Amino acid sequence: MNKVTFTAGSGPFLRVALDTPLRRSFDYRPPAGCNPAALRPGLRVEVPFGSRTMVGVIVELAGESTLPPAKLRTAHSVLDTEPVLDAVTLDLVRWAAEYYHHPIGEAYAAALPSMLRAGRPLNARETRWRASSEGRAAATGSSRLGPRQRALLDALGAGSVGDEELDALGGTTRDVLRALVKRGWVESFDVEVPAVEPPPPSVAEGPAPTSAQQSAVDAIVGALGTFAPFLLHGVTGSGKTEVYLRVIREALERGQQALVLVPEIALTPQAVARFRARFAVPLAVLHSGLTAGERLAMWRAARDGSAPVVIGTRSAIYVPLPNPGVIVVDEEHDASYKQQEGFRYSARDLAVIRAQRHGIPVVLGSATPSLETLQNAIAGRYRRVDLPERAGAAGKPRVAVVDLRVQPQTHGIATPVAIAAQRHLEAGAQVLFYLNRRGFAPTLFCPGCGWTAPCEQCDARLTVHRRRHVLACHHCGAEAPVPYACPVCSTEVRPVGQGTERIEDVLDELFPGAPVVRVDRDTIRKRGEIETALERVHSGEARILVGTQMLTKGHDFPDVTLVVVLNADQGLFGTDFRAAERLAQSIVQVAGRAGRASRPGEVLIQTACPDHPLLKNLLESGYDGFAQAALVEREQAHWPPYTRLAVLRAEAPQAELPMRFLVAARDAARDLPRDGVRLLGPAPAAMERRAGRWRAQLLLEAANRGPLQKLLGGWLPRLDEIPESRRVRWSIDVDPLEVT
Ligand code: ADP
Ligand code: ZN
Ligand code: ZN
Repeated sequence: MNKVTFTAGSGPFLRVALDTPLRRSFDYRPPAGCNPAALRPGLRVEVPFGSRTMVGVIVELAGESTLPPAKLRTAHSVLDTEPVLDAVTLDLVRWAAEYYHHPIGEAYAAALPSMLRAGRPLNARETRWRASSEGRAAATGSSRLGPRQRALLDALGAGSVGDEELDALGGTTRDVLRALVKRGWVESFDVEVPAVEPPPPSVAEGPAPTSAQQSAVDAIVGALGTFAPFLLHGVTGSGKTEVYLRVIREALERGQQALVLVPEIALTPQAVARFRARFAVPLAVLHSGLTAGERLAMWRAARDGSAPVVIGTRSAIYVPLPNPGVIVVDEEHDASYKQQEGFRYSARDLAVIRAQRHGIPVVLGSATPSLETLQNAIAGRYRRVDLPERAGAAGKPRVAVVDLRVQPQTHGIATPVAIAAQRHLEAGAQVLFYLNRRGFAPTLFCPGCGWTAPCEQCDARLTVHRRRHVLACHHCGAEAPVPYACPVCSTEVRPVGQGTERIEDVLDELFPGAPVVRVDRDTIRKRGEIETALERVHSGEARILVGTQMLTKGHDFPDVTLVVVLNADQGLFGTDFRAAERLAQSIVQVAGRAGRASRPGEVLIQTACPDHPLLKNLLESGYDGFAQAALVEREQAHWPPYTRLAVLRAEAPQAELPMRFLVAARDAARDLPRDGVRLLGPAPAAMERRAGRWRAQLLLEAANRGPLQKLLGGWLPRLDEIPESRRVRWSIDVDPLEVT
């Protein structure tokens, strides 16, 4: 790099993270008249950027700037009187931006609630807009109004809208709104949003812990006040949540806070209710369904300590906490902890980094730990505590395989399975069918010529959705009408294979009088719908459950005594190195829904490959046995956790561009010190075309993190200089979940 003239001496200069895709921070002079002693990292500032004004976070006060004096601009104003992000959070975000090689400004933006990103004050309330009386008069009178202005005034009516609704209206709504505000026809007003969930009038004690639970609690409580990562490996229903609750209570008694991360789907009111019932303190719950105002209010309550217990999904890892005592990551193996686009961080891994910075314990809990976490425990980096038995009276379910090659079946349900289901239903129990494929049928097929309905935009087939009468692509969302006849040979086409929709129909036919509830992304689209569905199960009104992955996570179905895995084979031959691990986790998790209360459970797994070593291993020696064998395979094949990976992905509407970019990228690494890092590829993605874009990837593999990080650091800045970089969309993914 060239040596630049820089501005020395007259500091401090503000080093500011701005929400741009540029991989750097920006230097500014402090605003005029600002007291330099009041400047601190973590304060937000408003600064000129190009011809715009942007809100950024001061990440550092620098004594000198790398910019020459003439280029150094002056910040407009400091927005806060105290830092919105504390030192540990600032450090965590910086660490994550460096480790995942993501632009620092976007990383900081991910850590802030949207209202703070927009420059609103920390104590802001939610803003809503309503028509003024003049506006209402104008809407009904003869004033000159554009059609869009009239539409928005009509939409407001006598009510009001907030940010989320405005964004949902989309397009130019904001501009129209601004015009109406200018004319005095729409006005804004602030509303109070309920900050945190109030504590209950009395708290429940909870069941007496089993001895395994007690030793787990003792081990973790004994580590309060020091950095200590734990793997809490408890079979499903073993009472892991009870362990969290007791550890948290101890932390609260010491005046500390607790941060609990949960997978996206698990954050149902039932799960939250269990925490609320146990602690006489306010709870802050952070999830994607909050309004901007609610989110800020929750964030504020966590940050100022008025909510001692904070429960949230992935991004809650960045919530500042003044006095944290323990971090819990429930279902640590869950894929939702890794953000899959943009800033590709793992909240599970950051939880360990964060606990280290605070000097506190972190508990990674799961019935099916990720192989990474198991390996960390084996290597002695994490302490492992086990809950080997189910809590309460529940016993282990009986698991058996149903061989689809020899058993007769009705649309995907084998006869022995139907007989078993009948038996369980007659005994007054509920039955759960798991199939990780939504829609009616995965393929529309022509028996005349073999044609199948393709997606025009992807290398994929369209799924038949019979209820909605459409063919839909599950990769790009494209939809098409269902043809009656084959477009090639005019033979009548038919749906082949099973999705949850079709299974629902089959079950209705097989078990008339047993109401079925289906849980997948087609039936659960809005907030609140999962609660309604679960309520039908808990009340006993529904007798049969059919669903996808959504059903397997964290729910407790005490009256379900039979769980059927309809198609285990989907995962057996997956292309990704994690496919087997994912399959084993789904089977064990869904099996864990069976017989959680005092009734014995039964699990039936339908497969056409009953002799597959993975299935045999899982059935004979459980998840631990599977994991041991899988770790051996990973080691032999040089996959994580025995190696470290990063993937450079590229996509473009032109077929040849991604590969051309990646070849150039590969060449750009040629003279960098490799230190054992291998570059594999580039190669087209398993699904080469998706949503009209061609995709390819280059894999980086190393024995250790150090050399990989070093190579990435030297290499990524060079990628922007590749001419094709401006014509492809590229991204780097460190510790990717998938490399297909
Ligand atoms: P996990 O989180 O491991 O799936 P939970 O904490 O949800 O397990 O416990 C499963 C069920 O067992 C719950 O209904 C819970 O109330 C009950 N349970 C947990 N611990 C005990 C205990 N020590 N005695 C009796 N019941 C318990
Ligand atoms: Zn045909
Ligand atoms: Zn598609």
